[in-house]
Formats: sequence, structure tokens, C-alpha cells
Amino acid sequence: MRQCEELRIIGDDLFYEVQEKLDSLKQGPRGPRKTKDAHLWDLVTNLFYCAHCGERFYVAGAGGKGMRCKNGDFCPCKSTVRREEAIKAICKRLQELIAQDATLIEQVILEAQQLDARGDHQLEAEIETSQRKLASFERKLSDYLDLAGQGSDEDREEMKTRIRSVRIERNAARVELNRLHQALSHATSVISEDEIRDSLTHLSSLLREGAAGTLGEDAVYEAVEAFRLLVGGRIDVHVEQRVGRKRTCRHRSENVALDGEGVTE
Ligand SMILES: [Zn+2]
Repeated sequence: MRQCEELRIIGDDLFYEVQEKLDSLKQGPRGPRKTKDAHLWDLVTNLFYCAHCGERFYVAGAGGKGMRCKNGDFCPCKSTVRREEAIKAICKRLQELIAQDATLIEQVILEAQQLDARGDHQLEAEIETSQRKLASFERKLSDYLDLAGQGSDEDREEMKTRIRSVRIERNAARVELNRLHQALSHATSVISEDEIRDSLTHLSSLLREGAAGTLGEDAVYEAVEAFRLLVGGRIDVHVEQRVGRKRTCRHRSENVALDGEGVTE
């Protein structure tokens, strides 16, 4: 599919979506195609953005092995990044960061839980107050019930009315106490240090196996989600001309240097 500015009748987004579909169809020989397992690097192209244009990257290059800015040849950066290598490099860096910050991450989670626990103490105090209130309504009600049926018709009518209103108050107190108990049971589900460590280990292994291309169909989507969350949903690709023609792929303050050789096509 050729792009000819004067003859364009469809919007950019549609054009690139179609282009991407066509590119993916072009891969491999014609005829009954072997169902190929998608790799992590096939599934995260939409997270890459051109730092110059602010546009998304799309699959490009020979065999769809690369990706480049939506503006293609019109982008001043004009560089196609090899997807597999770029994503492997980022996975490696993310694993290093996780390993390096594991203790910090653990501390932050534990600290946050302690703050939550302060909320628990307040709930416990509220529960105590609520229990006292309920007990006093129960006592009042049983006193009234003892007196019911005594005295004049007028006294008995009055007592019936009092009993009714105390019952309403007692029921409301029961509901409130229930609510507080439920809130407390939700609040106290804490995550242990071991669980935090386990999930960090799991994240790292998703990245490692994702980069190695050894993940099965379900796990690869889990890896995509982990990758997306860890990079904050977006990776800005900065192209820098340097000695040795190094291309740099930067995410926030982190530099994931991609070796110039073989990265651009
Ligand atoms: Zn661009």
C-alpha cells in the first residue's frame, strides 16, 4: 500500500490500522499458515510513541520486524526500530529495576498497609461505640416489654408506641454494627512480605520469559499487561545521532540503549 498525500481519502488512524493488518498478513508464505504463537514483542507496539511527533509507532520494515513513527518517511527521525531487540532490551532493564528496587517496593507496600491499619483502629473504636449503643437499646426494649400489659389502657397504648420506636432504633443499630464489621473484615486483608516478594518474582519471570519468547498463549497476555503497567502505558522513543550511530530508546529517566548496529533498518 502506497501513501499518496493528494489521493488520501481515509483518515490517518484508519490508514495505519489497515496498513498494520496488511503487514501482518504479508508475513510468511501464502497458503495454509501455521498458527504462530504471538510473542511479547508482537503485542506491545502500541505502547511506543515518537518523541518528536508524539505519534504512535506502527509495525513496519521487512517482514514486519520493525516499528516506526506513524508519520513514516515524513517523520524527521525516520528510523525504524527493531521490535524484538528493543523489547528484549526494555525487559532486561525492567528486570534490573525490579531487582534493584525490590526492597523499596516491599517497604512502600508494608508502609501503606500500616497506614491502613490505623484506619482499622478507628473502625474498632466505632464498633465498640456501636456495640454499647445496641446493648442499651436492647436493655431498654426488655425493660419496656416487662412493663407491657400493665396499668391503664392509656398506659398500655403508650408503652406499645415506645416499644415500637425502640425496636426501630435497635434495628438501625444492628444494621450499623453489621456495616462496621464488614468494613473491618475488608480492611484487614493484608498482603505479607512473602506475597509481595512472590509477585515481584513472578513479574520478573514474565519479563524474562516474554523476552525469550517462551511464554504460552495465556501467559504472553499476562506479560503484555505487566509490561504495559511497568512502563506506565507509554514509551517515548528518542532518536539520537551519536558517534557509532547509537539509537536510544528512552523511558522517563531510564535509558535503554539499543545498539545502533542492527537496530535501524
Ligand atoms: Zn515521528
